[in-house]
Amino acid sequence: MLTVPETVKLFDQNAYAEDFSATVLSAERIVKTEKKGKKKKKEIVTWEVILDRTLFFPEEGGQTPDTGVLGGYPVTDVQLEGNVIRHTVLDNCGEDELFAVGQTVSGRIDFARRFSNMQNHSGEHILSGLVHGRFGYDNVGFHLSDNTVTLDFNGPLTEEDILWLEQTANRVVWDNKEIRAWYPDPEELKKTVYRSKKEIDGPLRLVEIPGVDMCACCAPHVRRTGEIGLIKIIRILRERSGIRLTILCGSRALAYMQTLQKAAEDVSHLTNMPREEIAAGTARILEDNDKLRQREAQLEAMMTAVLARSVPPGQKEVFLFAEGLGNLAQRRLVNTLCESHEGYCGVWIGNDQDGYRYIIGAGTESSKVSGDSTEGAGTEGNGAEPANTRDARVLNACLHKACGARGGGSPAMVQGSVMAAEAEIRRALEEALYERP
Ligand SMILES: [Zn+2]
Repeated sequence: MLTVPETVKLFDQNAYAEDFSATVLSAERIVKTEKKGKKKKKEIVTWEVILDRTLFFPEEGGQTPDTGVLGGYPVTDVQLEGNVIRHTVLDNCGEDELFAVGQTVSGRIDFARRFSNMQNHSGEHILSGLVHGRFGYDNVGFHLSDNTVTLDFNGPLTEEDILWLEQTANRVVWDNKEIRAWYPDPEELKKTVYRSKKEIDGPLRLVEIPGVDMCACCAPHVRRTGEIGLIKIIRILRERSGIRLTILCGSRALAYMQTLQKAAEDVSHLTNMPREEIAAGTARILEDNDKLRQREAQLEAMMTAVLARSVPPGQKEVFLFAEGLGNLAQRRLVNTLCESHEGYCGVWIGNDQDGYRYIIGAGTESSKVSGDSTEGAGTEGNGAEPANTRDARVLNACLHKACGARGGGSPAMVQGSVMAAEAEIRRALEEALYERP
């Protein structure tokens, strides 16, 4: 149980203050060991500090806490426990006594980050107020971190609704309305209609954007809506229970738009199209690409047919080396060869410098049962092997042994790759086929 008094929230009094000084009410040194690599352990020393007052906004209401320094040391977390705010401070210098009870310390928050949070949080209130006012939905989830700002509503919004929402929200920004945050007395609160996500114990703080929103909220806000700069809805996720909007406001929205503009400029240069027409231009390129793929498939089919015809019909084992055939065409060629040749049929695609990828099929003979001597009569072959012993994995193993090939498969078909020259591969295949004991 904490026995320290309630922390005075300086950020409530002035959301724009960056520096403050306070008295340390409690300070606890915590040592944790963190595993680093296999054996090394790293010791992490932090201090849990409670002050009489603070500018650090704690993690609350879906918003991540402020960062900054306290006594010159980085503040890595700020949590609210009841009415007390606890700061986690990293000891990055290895001193024993960073904080002592009764000591006066100075603190500074990362104001650029805080201001960005204020812009996004105030932007969220405008959007939630507008959605509530027009559609009657509640904001049932809010998340504001360095990377994402999301809002969940418990009802659907159409494409048109969202356009209206973004337009109207930005009009509220241009109107530069004053944003007021205060703790109303119980009488005033009773008469006020406001949005609230949960039951709040203790004094309730209201944030008002006149004509747009009235909401119970604990977070710092900008003074006037004009400071939000820009409200941009960048992603819409429709869920069964409602809709999730991902938004960006102010400096984050500007940074995002700059990134998009750069991407659009790059595509514009690459496609030689004006920026406004890159979608149509890209669609044309994709269409051309489809046509080229079809043409490529036709050419590959022709090449496969020519290659298949180049092998004398009576030849038993077929090993073809070629360049420029895709995987699918290579497989089709192996299948075609296997249908009309008894022995192993392999196709190697590549060249001696870069190596080859190969597929080897076991040929028609592999499917014969032992003793079926009538089929395949009149074809070339020594007839020494029983028909059902063909197993493409045998060739794969020989290629692996002789040339370091890597691959695998079934008795009927193997595939793999090999960094070796055609002559070397052919020699290994010859040995595998004819010099086996
Ligand atoms: Zn709020």
